Amino acid sequence: MAYLELKNLTVEFNGFRAVNEVNLSVEKGELRVIIGPNGAGKTTIIDMITGKTKPTYGSVLLNGESIGGKDPYKISNKYKVGRKFQGPNVFDYMTVYENIEVALSGYNSLIKTLTFRKTRAVKNEIEDILKKINLYDERNVLPSFLSHGQRQWLEMGMILAQKPEVITLDEPTAGMSADETYKTGEMIKTIMKGKTLIVIEHDIDFVKQIAQTVTVLSQGEVLAEGSYKEITANPEVIKVYLKT
Ligand code: ADP
Repeated sequence: MAYLELKNLTVEFNGFRAVNEVNLSVEKGELRVIIGPNGAGKTTIIDMITGKTKPTYGSVLLNGESIGGKDPYKISNKYKVGRKFQGPNVFDYMTVYENIEVALSGYNSLIKTLTFRKTRAVKNEIEDILKKINLYDERNVLPSFLSHGQRQWLEMGMILAQKPEVITLDEPTAGMSADETYKTGEMIKTIMKGKTLIVIEHDIDFVKQIAQTVTVLSQGEVLAEGSYKEITANPEVIKVYLKT
């Protein structure tokens, strides 16, 4: 049994089948990349894994337990499934350090966060995350002083601080420079190592850099699955995606 399994996962919106009987198995610690044309159903699949959208039928199993259709808060907190949307979601009025701190505290009340910050172990943990996301030197600045890429890294750090087992990333390199994109790939491979990762991506060079296994979606269905090499040599994939 795989760690994360989608079985016949299907969702309809007003009769339109956006995701049609998708079967997908991801092993614990695997880094799975999902590619496919716009409208293929990639984000909707993540919406169903994270509880934002209820499947019409089919299941999402995590470690054998059915989580499909459960409350997003429960999926995030009890089942430890973290999510990063396309744009950076950070607190603009808090410093880089405080953003990580509040994420580490589990987004609790300010009072709890203030008490929480006192221990040396917590400080060490925050500093360790700041170093991993290359923002230690920027720890005392507000996110508005960071580049777009650095804000994305900050959010990745905030997700890590919540200690998820599964992390979903929706186009983590959107809007990044080539240099930031490359650094993001290396960062994902090192700091998220051991986590089970589902990454939606369009940048094919980035896919090459990070992918272990690639799943190609088209019109709500799995078109192909395999290594980067296999996928990019697959005539069907070239026809529906790579040539567009
Ligand atoms: P991708 O992420 O691959 O670009 P999406 O998962 O965002 O694709 O969308 C798949 C299809 O489902 C698209 O045709 C989109 O318009 C449709 N869709 C997604 N969410 C909804 C919704 N809440 N209501 C109606 N249609 C939706």
